[in-house]
Amino acid sequence: MDMEKLVSLCKRRGFIFQSSEIYGGLNGFWDYGPLGVELKRNVKESWWRDMVAGHDDTTTPAGAPEAYQMVGLDCTIIMHPQVWKCSGHYDLFHDFMVDCRQSKKRYRHDQVNGRWLTAKGKRIFVATELGGDEGLAETEQRALKFFNLRGKDAETLAWDGPLISLTKVPDFSVVLGPDAKELGTLTEPREFNLMFKTIVGAMGTEDDAAFLRPETAQGIFVNFKNVLDSSRVSVPFGIAQMGKSFRNEITPRNFTFRSREFEQMEIEFFCHPKQSPDWYQYWRDKRFRWYTGLGLASNRLRLREHDKEELSHYSCGTADIEYAFPFLPPGEFGELEGIAHRGDFDLRSHMEGKLVRQGDSLVVETDAEGKPRHRGSGKDLSYRDDITNERFVPHVIEPSAGADRATLAFLCEAYAEDEAPDENGKMQGRVVMRFHPRLAPIKAAVFPLVRKDGMPEVAQEIYRSLKTEFNVFYDEKGAVGRRYRRQDEAGTPFCLTVDGQTLTDGTVTIRDRDTLKQERIHKNDCLTEIKRRLAQ
Ligand code: ATP
Repeated sequence: MDMEKLVSLCKRRGFIFQSSEIYGGLNGFWDYGPLGVELKRNVKESWWRDMVAGHDDTTTPAGAPEAYQMVGLDCTIIMHPQVWKCSGHYDLFHDFMVDCRQSKKRYRHDQVNGRWLTAKGKRIFVATELGGDEGLAETEQRALKFFNLRGKDAETLAWDGPLISLTKVPDFSVVLGPDAKELGTLTEPREFNLMFKTIVGAMGTEDDAAFLRPETAQGIFVNFKNVLDSSRVSVPFGIAQMGKSFRNEITPRNFTFRSREFEQMEIEFFCHPKQSPDWYQYWRDKRFRWYTGLGLASNRLRLREHDKEELSHYSCGTADIEYAFPFLPPGEFGELEGIAHRGDFDLRSHMEGKLVRQGDSLVVETDAEGKPRHRGSGKDLSYRDDITNERFVPHVIEPSAGADRATLAFLCEAYAEDEAPDENGKMQGRVVMRFHPRLAPIKAAVFPLVRKDGMPEVAQEIYRSLKTEFNVFYDEKGAVGRRYRRQDEAGTPFCLTVDGQTLTDGTVTIRDRDTLKQERIHKNDCLTEIKRRLAQ
């Protein structure tokens, strides 16, 4: 699928707009239009319903070690700055960036690739932001240009090895930057903290600096005791939260995939350390099934377990759910969600202070005077099992998803082009968004065939009866074929049309977006019929 077509459809039909577009836009920020906001709400509501509100606390689900409880939380975006010091984000949450002195462009160090090459007696590293075959083609093009060679001289370029990351190149003086014409224009990598800083209070000084949260998870950890003391939960249980997060990404790109303001849907699941490997597997599989259940095709979706070297220092297992987004080179996948076994790292950090690894264990990091580098809350965040009397710090499994990335994956997956007959029965090309009915922004559209003979009145009556249950759209303008096509582009699963026959026998047509089949049902049965079809 061509990403440009999707981006243009998103703008044209009101799914996604660039933020502050009339002022030229702001890089890394996106707005959801009338259809987009419904789609994203449906993504978030499906998540909340399937993970929290609809969860049955009393039954052991298939694959789970036992029954468990789920509750929700809604924390502030700005929290006490100490939260980020203990969590490690203050010291560690950064990327490395490199600047190009010539093109004035900025890159994330680990996102630049390139290959070694010898030509005309010179060994250089040709860099690119692309990967896969596109990266190979681009580096060849640029190398030919750099050495003043023509396409037919491509064989004289002696490439040495495949595309590798710029992070593996120690000497930048021989690097041809991704947009540079000369060698050695890239600066040394510099650290850059991804947290947005702000000042709290009118008299604010640097001491009053606070941060916009880069993840929603920490709000859950710091409220662990509040939830435990105020509700009747017992381990194992999960706390879920969704909301905005902010990261000052160095190179926001790929539409909404890497934004600077985005929404996360996170669960922290607290369990006994001994059971944690089983819970990790349970959540990994449950979360994968959630995406396929909502229509992501399994050949574009994959579950990737991290290698041992990739794991964070506190984790004994992490898997990413990844989707083959159309803007990525063939064979590459982008992360939709990470499921991590985090051990007791987070709760202990907020009790004791920022932790570091020492040998096989985690200890509080200390400064030159032997005091904690970042002091914890000192509050007891351990848990006592009422039945066994055992006291322990629960281990945590964290399924952490992005609402915007999920929405983008559902948009990419839904986009299709095929043919449908127009008013005269002639086949015409159409764009159709094949959303899962649960996610579709509009569930049904109601049309009077013509704007006379009492048809609008009947159609509006049907519209009002459906509106009490779901998002329905009424449209009486233009040729009915064009109205169908607009609904296909919006991804509306069903269209109901009131026509001449309705006035005689009370039936209307119901048209299915995907099969294009039209059937007649009684106008009084519309609500039950749409409900039945949505539930299928
Ligand atoms: P990446 O490696 O792509 O930067 P990450 O591993 O840093 O992602 P996490 O910290 O695990 O991401 O965040 C959990 C989820 O939040 C991600 O799987 C993703 O869906 C979402 N997310 C993270 N950063 C962004 C962003 N800049 N824009 C949109 N969604 C994001």
